[in-house]
Amino acid sequence: MSEKSMQQKLTMGSDKFTLFDTPEFDDSHQRQCYEKQRLAAAFRVFSYYGFDEGLAGHISLRDCIDPETFWVNPVGMHFSLIKASDLVRVSHVGEIVEGARPINSAAFAIHSRIHATYPHINAVAHAHSVYGRAFAALGEKLAPISQDACMFYENHIMFSHFGGVVADTEEGEKIAQALDNNIAAVLQNHGLLTVGSSVDAAAANFVMLDSCCHSQLLAQAAGKLRCIDSETARKTRAMNASDLVTWGNFQPMYQAILARDDSFLK
Ligand SMILES: [Zn+2]
Repeated sequence: MSEKSMQQKLTMGSDKFTLFDTPEFDDSHQRQCYEKQRLAAAFRVFSYYGFDEGLAGHISLRDCIDPETFWVNPVGMHFSLIKASDLVRVSHVGEIVEGARPINSAAFAIHSRIHATYPHINAVAHAHSVYGRAFAALGEKLAPISQDACMFYENHIMFSHFGGVVADTEEGEKIAQALDNNIAAVLQNHGLLTVGSSVDAAAANFVMLDSCCHSQLLAQAAGKLRCIDSETARKTRAMNASDLVTWGNFQPMYQAILARDDSFLK
């Protein structure tokens, strides 16, 4: 597929109003530079939402030139400070091929297995967000209680096995196998994980998943949940969980981050 054939438009109503055009590139190096900037922006977005905490949390992006490698954040660097030039590229077998800083071993253990198992998944986001962590303690899947929650209906897993800090690829492999064709995982007693065909989609999916966990926690604390029926939930998911819409969800977040501080671009 050529770079240009990937361009799509996100429209509203009829095709009259184009909200965003996905980008097109003349060469793969230009695309790589752009995608690293989007990954750096995703960390700034995560910081804005308070998803960073200590050494935990990582977002990865498959390299568009060498797809057997992926970009990830250096461990111990606050998400609010990450620039494109700080990112580290690591191979699926654990060799750091670009970058001067170490990475989180759990980032490699989880993300490498997902990237290696699913060629269509280009980005993976994981963090120990407060609402995600609280919801993950219930050992339940998210219920289709809102239009937004429908994007995860029959589209996420509850991974109930917690075996301590993920330190080896064996545990990462279990998460990867369980993920199957879904876009998200609630990792019991741990946190949340989302994936996407782009880093924009994976990051926006994480923001939405954490927000849906928050909503369900509030609703469950207040009373009995009234769920959307299965057929309507599936129909809604077909609309709001598409690659293009989930990519589009990130664009307003990106605009806000860019306007606030564009140092992530360097
Ligand atoms: Zn974790």
